[in-house]
Amino acid sequence: MRDFYCQCGNSIFFRNTRCLVCERTLGFAPEAMLMTALEAIGDGRWRVPASGSINGRIYRLCQNYTQHNVCNWLVPDESPHHFCPSCRLTRTIPDLDAPRHLELWARLENAKRHLIFNLRQLGLPIVGRAEDPEFGLCFDFLADADAETEFTEPLAGQAQVTTGHANGAITINIAEADDVARARMREQMGEHYRTLIGHFRHEVGHYYWARLIEKTEWLDEYRSLFGDERADYGQSLQRHYANGAPADWQSHFVTPYASAHPWEDWAESWAHYLHIRDTLDTATEYQLVARPPWQKQATEFEALMHRWTHLAIGMNAVNRSMGLADAYPFVLNAGARRKLEFIHRVIAPYEARTNP
Ligand SMILES: [Zn+2]
Ligand SMILES: [Zn+2]
Ligand SMILES: [Zn+2]
Repeated sequence: MRDFYCQCGNSIFFRNTRCLVCERTLGFAPEAMLMTALEAIGDGRWRVPASGSINGRIYRLCQNYTQHNVCNWLVPDESPHHFCPSCRLTRTIPDLDAPRHLELWARLENAKRHLIFNLRQLGLPIVGRAEDPEFGLCFDFLADADAETEFTEPLAGQAQVTTGHANGAITINIAEADDVARARMREQMGEHYRTLIGHFRHEVGHYYWARLIEKTEWLDEYRSLFGDERADYGQSLQRHYANGAPADWQSHFVTPYASAHPWEDWAESWAHYLHIRDTLDTATEYQLVARPPWQKQATEFEALMHRWTHLAIGMNAVNRSMGLADAYPFVLNAGARRKLEFIHRVIAPYEARTNP
């Protein structure tokens, strides 16, 4: 994530709605990929007072900003839309009459905007349901039917909402936005890492598999690295939940869950690629790692891995100093690296078009 500055010079963050120094209202202009201070000019319209590429432009606040305060993105005044590009991808929101749902929904939208920012940085196509009603990307934020137990017994009960992906539609159980429920689920699943941004990165990986790999020239190489995805998906998951990962998973997979099925291996690897790219970007922005050119490596990907290994080790050590769990509790074995390198090559042409 980039660091941004208010017109007053104060550092502001991607999720901010108000500058703590000059108290200006803030918003994110998605088409310019910029956080900016705003000046009200009446009629729900706002002008950018700052110098820079969007100086003087007029915006409206996303309807989810004004109505529910769960968004901080802007809509150009001339746009026909009431919602920003991120909120337009949300197909179903939780029942806001239920206690805490507004707060949990806000956390989900926040993680989603971070995801959309990263996808745009990489130049990846984001095609919603309006353009592609059958396979377009959309998000359903749902709660378990029994509101009494949804945050206390996330594994029990019927009509349970399962976080997952189908034909571009990503479902997230909003209990994942509850820290206690998510930590309990992480313990039950024996995981070392479970976050909202991680869910978004994983699930959107399934969407991009269908867009970038299936029916493309990448499919053969994908199968040689990840395995044949035509293996029965339901049976594979059942086997994984019954027996766990194979004993030698640490030589081939980025996580135990990646061993469940070639689709999950792709989605887990994709999530890690996004973790690595965004976290390295952030660390570079805040000058926690040296800016490139870094120590010379044979390929761009090897340079990326070199920088990442250095940062991940440092982050984990810093977290331990603060008494926190490791920020990146994973080891990238040779098999996992080959898969990340493949993803790097698949994404490269999109990124090159964005940042020529
Ligand atoms: Zn300010
Ligand atoms: Zn919005
Ligand atoms: Zn998955």
